[in-house]
Amino acid sequence: MSYRSIRLFINQKLVVGNTATLSEKMSHYLNAVMRCTTADVIKCFNASDGEFFAEIQNIDKKQTTIKVQKQIRKPIKEKDIWLLFAPLKKDKTDFVIEKAVELGASKIVPVITARTNSAKVKIERFELQAIEAAEQCERMSVPEIGKTSNLNKLLKEWDASRLLFFMDERRKGKTAEEAFISSRGKKTALLIGPEGGFNEEEKELLNKQPFVINVSLGPRILRAETAATAALAVWQAIAGDWRKS
Ligand code: SAH
Repeated sequence: MSYRSIRLFINQKLVVGNTATLSEKMSHYLNAVMRCTTADVIKCFNASDGEFFAEIQNIDKKQTTIKVQKQIRKPIKEKDIWLLFAPLKKDKTDFVIEKAVELGASKIVPVITARTNSAKVKIERFELQAIEAAEQCERMSVPEIGKTSNLNKLLKEWDASRLLFFMDERRKGKTAEEAFISSRGKKTALLIGPEGGFNEEEKELLNKQPFVINVSLGPRILRAETAATAALAVWQAIAGDWRKS
């Protein structure tokens, strides 16, 4: 038996003593990429069951069976914080997804706005990136990637019990500190605009909504990907899991 530093998200019930059959894609990864063999031990996890050691029982190119051995961590209740962002160019969108997972976003929603740079949104690709980032950062859950929506529709269908912080590049809103303190213990979402910012109509529409709060992220204009990561980090520090609870 040898321990391999591999951590896999497994979307199946994980119970000590039970076996799980892994997908062809995972088998290929374990077999061809990581050169795992029978009796190697890896880690596997999901949000409902927690994290476990598991031993590889059979492995080939197409199929792998693992036996769940021992629980390492119990499921963790995570903060309810959504990131809504206007998709950017490919590399920058990849960056936003990866950082949002590391920074604990519970749901990531692509939002199409008037000046959105890229209307091509590949949800499946985002989901794979989210899984990879969650595996790497020792997170217990993989955030859901929400259905792409346009801003109007999103606001129309909004659950008014969730606060929506609108990161306003005019820098006239509440300070992040002031705004985020008021969201402690509440369902929250952070909205970041595209590279070109929100247009006048959109800003007006946002400010008509009773659940929207304008937030300023300091005196400088940030790139959208900086604003997304900064807003999440500051929120975690003020209202999320970077605080002592
Ligand atoms: N081109 C625009 C800036 C867009 S920045 C302009 O020159 O005005 C991209 C997004 O990042 C914005 O829509 C906003 O959501 C966020 N953002 C950038 N800097 C910010 C700041 N200082 N405060 C709040 N939000 C900011």
